[in-house]
Amino acid sequence: MRVILLGTGAALPDPDRCHTSILIKLENGRHFLLDCGHGATRQLMKIDVNPADIESLFLTHLHHDHVCDLPFFVISGWMLSRAGSLQIYGPAGTKQLVGHLFEGGAFDADIKARASYPARQANIEAVRPLVSEYGDGIVFRDSDIKVTAEAVDHIPRDISPCFGFRIEAENKVIVFSGDTRPCEGIARLASKADLLIHECTFTNDFIEHRKKSGVGTFAHTSPADLGRLAAAANARSVIATHIGHVDSVNPVLKRAAGKHLPVELMGPHQIDEFVRQIRCTYSGPLRIAHDLMSVEV
Ligand SMILES: [Zn+2]
Ligand SMILES: [Zn+2]
Repeated sequence: MRVILLGTGAALPDPDRCHTSILIKLENGRHFLLDCGHGATRQLMKIDVNPADIESLFLTHLHHDHVCDLPFFVISGWMLSRAGSLQIYGPAGTKQLVGHLFEGGAFDADIKARASYPARQANIEAVRPLVSEYGDGIVFRDSDIKVTAEAVDHIPRDISPCFGFRIEAENKVIVFSGDTRPCEGIARLASKADLLIHECTFTNDFIEHRKKSGVGTFAHTSPADLGRLAAAANARSVIATHIGHVDSVNPVLKRAAGKHLPVELMGPHQIDEFVRQIRCTYSGPLRIAHDLMSVEV
């Protein structure tokens, strides 16, 4: 199967990285999407995949950088001839989120206007996603693919639960951490993965700065932690993603993000620092993600 990282950034607008979204493309042509942050729909177009051909979307958590392309993705799929409904698997709160978006929700006027054409009425189901809320355990399983979720440690569970995924298909295992600090859940999911796609948002210097500033969650994984975790899990290969703007030279980020990022430390050299810190403990195949990175598993 092929894995394509559509977006590899974190929560802020970053000119060089879209928000989190990962495409899984099976040999038999089936497409699955993990998370749907900003840019996901346009990135699919760039790699010659019709958003309407994604049969299921799996959401790790409801932070905006993992879901905010959802209305664009669903309405685009409708306009690009999706047949039937998109299936969305998400944590508790996903039904409420999706229920407020489409008919009777935020995009009601748009849908009413477009649905006045018979061609749009013909596949109106495309703008009525089916939502299943999942917890720990098997999220989806058929003869081609099995997706298992386990809770990870990112934002307080009573506000919004967060999960990682273990995906088994074509006799391979791909694990996606979602957003998390190091925790037992992701350690279990990652065990002996053929490919571990793990968030790696900030170095410890950035995390310490955020703890002091009191702005934003610091429940993320540093490259030093990712190296330890990947080695302990015997991960056969690793992609570090969800890069927290640490490598950006964007002037707006540098001017305006000072409350929660140590902007004086930011720059492309941080990617070398990520590699150095991961390599202290993990010696297997390693990639630092960039948008549209494509890997055969
Ligand atoms: Zn995130
Ligand atoms: Zn998050």
